[in-house]
Amino acid sequence: MPAPLFDPGAFRLTPEEASLTAQAREFGEAVLAPRAARWDREASFPTENYRDMQANGLLGIGIPKDDGGLGAGFRAYCLTAAELGRFCGATALTWNMHVCSTLWSGPLTEDLEMPEAVRAGHRRRRRLHYDRILQDGAIYSQPFSEGGAAAAGGTAFGTTARRVPGGYRVSGRKIFASLAGHADFYGILCTEVRDEDARLSRRDTLYLAIPREAEGVSVEGEWDPLGMRGTVSRTLVFRDVFVEEDAALMPPGLYFQAASRWPHMFMTLSPTYMGIAQAAYDFTIAYLRGEQPGTPPVKRRMYPTKQIAVAEMRIMLEQTKALWFQAITEAGPDPSREQVQRAWAAQHTVMENAAAIAAKAVRTCGGQAMLKSLPLERLYRDARCGSLMLPWTAELCVDRLGRDCLYEKGETD
Ligand SMILES: Cc1cc2nc3c(=O)[nH]c(=O)nc-3n(C[C@H](O)[C@H](O)[C@H](O)COP(=O)(O)OP(=O)(O)OC[C@H]3O[C@@H](n4cnc5c(N)ncnc54)[C@H](O)[C@@H]3O)c2cc1C
Repeated sequence: MPAPLFDPGAFRLTPEEASLTAQAREFGEAVLAPRAARWDREASFPTENYRDMQANGLLGIGIPKDDGGLGAGFRAYCLTAAELGRFCGATALTWNMHVCSTLWSGPLTEDLEMPEAVRAGHRRRRRLHYDRILQDGAIYSQPFSEGGAAAAGGTAFGTTARRVPGGYRVSGRKIFASLAGHADFYGILCTEVRDEDARLSRRDTLYLAIPREAEGVSVEGEWDPLGMRGTVSRTLVFRDVFVEEDAALMPPGLYFQAASRWPHMFMTLSPTYMGIAQAAYDFTIAYLRGEQPGTPPVKRRMYPTKQIAVAEMRIMLEQTKALWFQAITEAGPDPSREQVQRAWAAQHTVMENAAAIAAKAVRTCGGQAMLKSLPLERLYRDARCGSLMLPWTAELCVDRLGRDCLYEKGETD
């Protein structure tokens, strides 16, 4: 079994983190790794992996213990997801969408303000969602992107919800909807239309779980991408879909508060890519030592250029791990400005460095290493997708960081 990505002693992990990450590493190596090439080749959804994750409890990792889940906090989840990312990027990334549905509606909302009656209603409703996950193995997704500035946090979502007796009627379209056709519930962000004549407002964002089978829901378009092929991120269309009031994963208005006060919630796409960076490095070591399964036992480690390349990869990996670990450790409500800046820097670093480390691994290992019979070329393609993930794409992190470092609140030129 490979060494832990974050050694429990060296990084002072809690006993819970040590145990969850060990479980994920063992499961990733034994179950996810042997199947990963198939999802990639077929661009098919890893359904079998989800059945196994229901059996071993990982579907409920973000569900509070009082509600029957494993009760992982933000950092414990991130560390566990990074371990899974080493073995199957598409499974780790889609699992992230599922887990965030519980993490955001669970421990994260406990840090937010709402009247007690609203909190009681929220706790009752989220329990319904959690029971479906724990008892029926229900899978949740997070289709937010619409192709405009909404998923980047710039404007209100164009997908709308109108209140009707007993619930909402939802209409709109989501692109890049990972788990399309495979999740049992699509946890969409949409805007409540409260006044037909007023402009849509981000403050009216609703977070609703729409059943896959609801009337008016359809999956459209092809899915044949460069990497992360097993995510099956096709287009979802909602045509006047009725959902009950209990579909709400957060009370009205709370998502806006969460996005403003708990910004680290947007780092949750990064663990998968932290794992991919480690996997590309691990592959390189094994390959150059002549120990990579599926390759002849030819050593290449004695060439000075290979040693320099590995040293550079290791330096980049250590920098990435250290910054990311600090940022996920600081996650919480109302972070300081410096902590938010560090989170942007960490997200950017993970997403860009995963791609850079994978690219360097391909160049350093050489021609035979990029054959499709080996995992490296898949890691290389999967790694390339990280920088594109909204709302904190690599470009947006740079945009925000540069502006925020140079301008105090309220300053303009
Ligand atoms: C494998 C994969 C899986 C995905 N799964 C999901 C999912 O499950 N759910 C989901 O919601 N999305 C998902 N996405 C979508 C992803 O988060 C982005 O929304 C998507 O890649 C954006 O595609 P686009 O062509 O619309 O790019 P654009 O929206 O055009 O963005 C292109 C670039 O422009 C920049 N940009 C965009 N808006 C602004 C702005 N307002 N200000 C400044 N710069 C801006 C960004 O830096 C971005 O990188 C997935 C993407 C991939 C690659």
